[in-house]
Amino acid sequence: MLGIFIKALRFAADKHVLQRRKGCDKIPYINHPIKVVQLLYNASETDPELLAAAILHDVLEDTCTTDEEMRNIFGNRVTNIVLEVTDDMTLNYDDRKRSQIKRAPTLSDDAKKIKIADKISNIRDILDLTLAWSDRRKRQYFEWSEKVVHGCRHTNPFLDTAFDDILKEALGAVPHD
Ligand code: ZN
Repeated sequence: MLGIFIKALRFAADKHVLQRRKGCDKIPYINHPIKVVQLLYNASETDPELLAAAILHDVLEDTCTTDEEMRNIFGNRVTNIVLEVTDDMTLNYDDRKRSQIKRAPTLSDDAKKIKIADKISNIRDILDLTLAWSDRRKRQYFEWSEKVVHGCRHTNPFLDTAFDDILKEALGAVPHD
């Protein structure tokens, strides 16, 4: 079963190969899903299909990969989890943000775990990378993340605590304007 995870790692690395994370550091995009997987693993999540979905979680949203292509290679369960955590890119930015809050409580437990780990990784990057974001924009991201995570809690207590810890650090590090 480790095979599906390794295949997903290779697939995601190929699909994200030309992408870089936001910010001046221009780190390879794949570093982000790898961190998300590590957060899940450190929270004792070892299901290879869940970890495969975590490494693939931004592939449908951020590359031209289709869900059909993913389904042929990784099957229904992995693809459905990735679809759950994929924003509808036909909506504008504000509607996508609102939709994430609204949909969070309706997600499967697998998708909720990935959502929380994703938000932890994004906040970590906002604190650690050199971003051309105002403090106000950073705080808006932190506060919005908390609303999404609120709907995803109680699937894994270690993830809940890891989010609370990073949120506290983030709110302390980025003061109100
Ligand atoms: Zn992500």
